[in-house]
Amino acid sequence: MSYSLYWADRKSTPWSLGKIVCVGRNYAEHAKELNNPIPTEPLLFIKPATAAVDIEKPFSLPKDKGECHHEAEIAILVGDTISKVAPENAMDKVVGAGIALDLTLRDLQSKLKEKGHPWEVAKAFDASAPLSGFVPCEIMGDEPIGIEFEVNGELRQKGDTSMMLTSIPELISYISHIFTLEAGDVILTGTPAGVGPLKEGDEFRANLLGRDGETRLTVTGCIQS
Ligand code: ZN
Repeated sequence: MSYSLYWADRKSTPWSLGKIVCVGRNYAEHAKELNNPIPTEPLLFIKPATAAVDIEKPFSLPKDKGECHHEAEIAILVGDTISKVAPENAMDKVVGAGIALDLTLRDLQSKLKEKGHPWEVAKAFDASAPLSGFVPCEIMGDEPIGIEFEVNGELRQKGDTSMMLTSIPELISYISHIFTLEAGDVILTGTPAGVGPLKEGDEFRANLLGRDGETRLTVTGCIQS
């Protein structure tokens, strides 16, 4: 069943979900916590549309695949074709912001990294990209600014765009010079420090903050047990 993108008020968007473009290690503190070098340019990978599930409906983690980590991320919804755009115009065709989890099979990813193999098996599996509804740009303002993620009432991750190695407009510009972004594509902009394993029965809550620091969107969800 294909995933339906929706606005934060639950109305449907005119677009079907395309590709989910992810950026790795966009917050220096997160690169450090996994003993990864800080990249000199954005590190990109893609999840297929089939990876998406509704973040507010219970979802399951892969069984017997080792630790599955939460990476809470600011998600950006693209509303029109973007190709070879300059950073100063990069937000023109962005229509909304939301919350995503870039779920990662960390043990498996470590093994793949050791061998120098691609990450897809650890990153692109079914339900690896829980997505929230999107807050339209008119409500969000120019750019979302921060994200907070709690598991079972404990704050695990908190980050804002000032901590990003590559800003959201620069990221969109960079991506658009490699491949075309289309209406319905979603960009996951990297995760702040504090990633860790999720387990069956965990309950989580995430907030998306606007430029004024105010919460623009809150979602809650749980891991199916
Ligand atoms: Zn990530």
